[in-house]
Amino acid sequence: MLEDKDPQRTALSELGEFGLIAHLTEHFKIAHSSTIKGIGDDAAILEFDKQQLVITTDLLVEGVHFDLSYMPLKHLGYKAVMVNLSDVYAMNASASQITVSIAVSNRFPLEALEDLYAGIQTACINYKVDLVGGDTTSSNTGLVISITAVGHAVAKEITTRATAKPNDLLVVTGDIGAAYMGYQVLEREKQVFAVNPNNQPDLEPYSYIVERQLKPEARKDIKPLLAQLDVHPTSMIDISDGLSSEILHLCKASEVGCNLFEDKIPLDPQVIQVCEEFELDSTTIALSGGEDYELLFTISQDDYPKIKANPNLTVIGHMTEEKEGAHLITRANTKIPLIARGWNALDPKE
Ligand code: ADP
Ligand code: MG
Repeated sequence: MLEDKDPQRTALSELGEFGLIAHLTEHFKIAHSSTIKGIGDDAAILEFDKQQLVITTDLLVEGVHFDLSYMPLKHLGYKAVMVNLSDVYAMNASASQITVSIAVSNRFPLEALEDLYAGIQTACINYKVDLVGGDTTSSNTGLVISITAVGHAVAKEITTRATAKPNDLLVVTGDIGAAYMGYQVLEREKQVFAVNPNNQPDLEPYSYIVERQLKPEARKDIKPLLAQLDVHPTSMIDISDGLSSEILHLCKASEVGCNLFEDKIPLDPQVIQVCEEFELDSTTIALSGGEDYELLFTISQDDYPKIKANPNLTVIGHMTEEKEGAHLITRANTKIPLIARGWNALDPKE
């Protein structure tokens, strides 16, 4: 994970802004016929036939959203793309283009930006999205990276947060809580390393959760999966913050309530084990951890037989009338109100 950095350091000033952009983007290929014109003009030109577009953007700031002492730049580039694609997929749309803007201080050599763009390119290839533009500027201190993603779908496929109905089932993809526990492990190793730099961390027992933190994957597969199952989600959102805050967003936007069942929340065995090690409650982590980039959606009860055998999808609750509120039904069968605590609230430093 903590790879040796390329010892070569080429100052960015050697290339100049245009040389830098050309160098970083020269190996990117265009994969979509909807990309009429990519990098190289004042604006990109895109063309979609009878589809609605979805556009989303995210801004990541060094020291706030990422820590380069354990986040290799390649992973950062990859993750920055995932964060955006996840928002496109959360509209039940397909992602097709991104733009990437960076502000970078002279602390970063060319080789660092090459690593960042290598991660961005791997994401573009794996997820079949075209890099069609961006902006490059200098920063006085850290690295800032902003990505905008463009997606598309026919109007009736696009799914918002606002259309869940009482009695719909609440479904989550994959498993949750792992990215936050990966962050806990990396933070702990960072402290150990600060005390004794010769102490190389053994992250092997934590491979799954560390990977979920450093190299998350957005759920590109869910839209085609639901189409194949002939399931039409009634509302959808991605899990970038904790499960509880995303459920509350769905409830508020759709004007419904919800019962979430603690014993249904999908957790990886490694998350359960590491929660025990850190003396953290795994339900709390799943509810408040964040950064899982799974999808949360609702379906009509009629569609239940179509999804029930699918290992990617777990029914974790159902929607209710708004006046009933949003609750967690615990394993002990007590009903407690769901509250939104972002993952920062879990951080002992905050
Ligand atoms: P302008 O002066 O019109 O803003 P720029 O010189 O900033 O143009 O950019 C030239 C071209 O390179 C444009 O197509 C722009 O979208 C693209 N571009 C600029 N910076 C980046 C970047 N960091 N990553 C990808 N493409 C970029
Ligand atoms: Mg520009």
